[in-house]
Amino acid sequence: MSRIIVAGSINMDLVNHVKEFPKPGETIHGRGVDYLPGGKGANQAVAASLAGGDVTMIGAVGEDSFAEPLLSSLSERGVATGSVVRKPGTSGLAFITVSDAGENQIILSEGSNGKLRPEDVPAKQLADADVIVLQNEIPWETNLHVMQASRSERAKVVYNPAPVRQIPADAYPLIDLLVVNETEAAGLSGIEVASQQDAARAGRELLSRGARSVLVTLGAKGSLYLEGDGQPIFTPSFRVRAVDTTAAGDTFIGAFVAAGAQGLDTPAALRFATAASAIAVTREGAQASIPTRREIESFLA
Ligand code: ATP
Repeated sequence: MSRIIVAGSINMDLVNHVKEFPKPGETIHGRGVDYLPGGKGANQAVAASLAGGDVTMIGAVGEDSFAEPLLSSLSERGVATGSVVRKPGTSGLAFITVSDAGENQIILSEGSNGKLRPEDVPAKQLADADVIVLQNEIPWETNLHVMQASRSERAKVVYNPAPVRQIPADAYPLIDLLVVNETEAAGLSGIEVASQQDAARAGRELLSRGARSVLVTLGAKGSLYLEGDGQPIFTPSFRVRAVDTTAAGDTFIGAFVAAGAQGLDTPAALRFATAASAIAVTREGAQASIPTRREIESFLA
């Protein structure tokens, strides 16, 4: 089986529920805090591992009481954490407040994620990898280093530029698969994306900049995959009762990569990932909502 590396963020989400958000200067009581491991990197690593992949995480936790639970949440789900480094200060934290109206306010504190340097990425891990998955919650300089090293090691680079920021022109050719949602596709291509046709136009623009393939996820509509001059592949989503779409995209990416690593062809891997994310949206939470390979297979059976 192919080896998957995920280099990215590891966060603890501190989720509090309130009737209404406090006004500036006001102090209110919350209903209690849930500690939920998250971060796009860690979520994608968990999704790939639970979907059957051989996954190693590269990232950073702090020297605080969150580090251990963050690492064990990954290792309990089969992700190898031996290459995760510790940095002085706090781990990555997301302070999330959810109101009774269902709105949320989020304050991100990047903590140790912002301190992950190119030299923290073990060359041996990159040399042994077949696929490397990246997002935008660690410094760009570290992402670029991993992309360049992967090119010389012939590992495939999967890049999910979330939260969105522009990609330097000379980095596009380092990307084998660019995975974007509607907002990211629009932010990068300059083309508003609301439909499958818009996604095709935005996707072609990103291919023309040098990415080898592009996958645009379209929420409840499904996804569109484009590669070279080939016919785009549209995969409709499964109809489910969505209760919480947190980590739908992360689940999709992890499951797609794991399916490819286990030898599925692209249409089959897309269907597998679409099923994985459909299951995830029927459950609350981020990592807690991510399904196992067995659950995905029985959903598809
Ligand atoms: P998030 O930021 O919430 O993790 P995202 O914006 O990165 O998600 P989306 O495009 O919303 O990613 O969703 C990814 C995939 O999840 C979609 O392509 C689709 O297959 C599946 N999905 C999302 N929402 C739904 C839904 N309501 N019902 C079924 N499948 C869904």
